[in-house]
Amino acid sequence: MTQRSMKLLLLLLLERATAFAWTGISLRNPSIGTNPFSKISSLAATSTGNSINATTETPTTPFSPLNPILQQVQPSKTVEIFSLVKDMEVAGETVTSLCVGEPDFLPPKAVLEAATQAIVDGDTRYTAVTGTLALRKAIAADLQRRKGVTYQPTEIVVGNGAKQCVYQGILATCGEGDKVLVPAPYWPSYPEMVKLVGAKPVVVETTSNNGYLITPEDLRRTIQENPDIKLIILCNPSNPTGGVYHLEQLKPIAEVLKDFPNVLVLADEIYERLVYDGECPAFASLLFDRTLTVNGFSKAYAMTGLRLGYVAAPQPLAKAITTIQSQLTSCAGSISQAAGVAALTQVSDAELDQNIEIMREKRDYVLGELSKMPGVSVAMPPNGAFYVLPDVSSYFDGDDTQLCLELLKSKKLAIVPGSSFGAPGTVRLSYATSMEELGTAMSKLREFLEEQQDSP
Ligand code: PMP
Repeated sequence: MTQRSMKLLLLLLLERATAFAWTGISLRNPSIGTNPFSKISSLAATSTGNSINATTETPTTPFSPLNPILQQVQPSKTVEIFSLVKDMEVAGETVTSLCVGEPDFLPPKAVLEAATQAIVDGDTRYTAVTGTLALRKAIAADLQRRKGVTYQPTEIVVGNGAKQCVYQGILATCGEGDKVLVPAPYWPSYPEMVKLVGAKPVVVETTSNNGYLITPEDLRRTIQENPDIKLIILCNPSNPTGGVYHLEQLKPIAEVLKDFPNVLVLADEIYERLVYDGECPAFASLLFDRTLTVNGFSKAYAMTGLRLGYVAAPQPLAKAITTIQSQLTSCAGSISQAAGVAALTQVSDAELDQNIEIMREKRDYVLGELSKMPGVSVAMPPNGAFYVLPDVSSYFDGDDTQLCLELLKSKKLAIVPGSSFGAPGTVRLSYATSMEELGTAMSKLREFLEEQQDSP
């Protein structure tokens, strides 16, 4: 290679490296503008002081560092709003936030003590990919005792939160060309995770008349119309509606699925301990061989930051998920797993039931306040989880995102637009916060909506 061509190569590499850095910056900060490749090209040439003609050529295909699949995937709006809130707080503003699904109470004492003890004991090593045997045995015993489903520890994979378990479950079962049925309103991560694995979400609207639950008729029709459906996702109780499928709704769904033996079910039951009236059975008790049961410790035990969840599924599915997890994260945190064992073996049902009663009080308070607000309606009072999804479509011409941004700007109250849950014209409020915060939030929301009505 001649000295001149060596120089050219170096310049080209410099250009590419700089363009990559710029692309990264402009993605994070839109105000910086689009790919400034050409500017950098001439800058690089000028700075070397020679051979301008040879280096000012603009490449025909701009270098893109991103996977094209990301063009189809939306970032989480809840997380985006939560980040905005955090930025505002860092800037010294006081924000009232009902946007994140996180209980305001601490995990049970036994959990905190077990986590502390695990650190003291130096329990800080990798565990088996699927989780410690102690934790998987405790999960199996819990599922047997409360749900009547029998899983072997080898059919359980513990992961870093239920979110990861949902994704790994979808990745283990679906790929390019497959479709996944997602009833709406949905947890926003479902359709995006489906797209991330190259599959297609098939969204089926549900109505408040049916408790926002998919009907057996809609289920049958949708599968018949979309024979590529490989998986259906059932979130029970539902985030964001608080709808709960009881046995009488689940049985007919399982009956329909018996006619479609190639369709699997991912039952996300992370809120199953937070039900106000009646029971929330495990879907696996009806269709064990085709169900992936996802659950976790974030909601009932308030262990959000410990990042602990699991999927329970028949051996071949559990094995496939283990293969994926072994290549992604190896295992969940050892301290968190020790805390998880304590959660399942040392925390009584009575202690957890107290939290349900506290949540019920908060739900009733929020529903009462919303009912007094002009132009707001709640089609179905939530019976599980800790969210409410009021209709606010009479404001901002139904643009719920604009409503949320204006509300955050003018009242410093953060809630999430319903359109990100497949429920345009609504907003989602999480009431898993203190009564004091809820009181402030309700006053701010009421004031804001009244101001909107007063403005011409
Ligand atoms: N599923 C649903 C329906 C959820 O709402 C959440 C948390 N918001 C998760 C899964 C994930 O929970 P985690 O990863 O904290 O266990």
